[in-house]
Amino acid sequence: MDCVFCKIIDKKIPADIVYEDDKIIVFKDIKPLAPIHLLIVPKKHIPSVDHFEMRDKELIGEIFLTAQKIARDQSVAKSGYKLVFNVGEGAGQIVNHLHLHLLGGWSKAEESESPGMP
Ligand code: AMP
Ligand code: ZN
Repeated sequence: MDCVFCKIIDKKIPADIVYEDDKIIVFKDIKPLAPIHLLIVPKKHIPSVDHFEMRDKELIGEIFLTAQKIARDQSVAKSGYKLVFNVGEGAGQIVNHLHLHLLGGWSKAEESESPGMP
């Protein structure tokens, strides 16, 4: 399958991986929109939130719990962070393999400029 995130999962192309387990991989966004911009990606190829099925409900929970863990590990849990899913082309989704954006790490001065959306 010609999917850039599947290729990262299969280690066919490199990425700056910060966390990985049997179901989820987390790596740095190649074009960061915040001081910390990570992508939380299920290893299962699901195109978008619109394609979730009931059988994915445990995985959905794991995606959010991983986001929580990574935010703590990256020391942004206290300062605050954004979690964003772009769903579909019209919302700016360019990679059709589900991913949760984790954005944070702004300084006080930057806070007012922190993007509403990636
Ligand atoms: P979205 O617009 O929600 O589909 O977001 C896709 C994100 O993936 C963008 O922020 C891209 O910068 C990022 N991205 C695309 N290719 C790569 C890559 N090879 N490694 C890391 N991030 C990537
Ligand atoms: Zn994929």
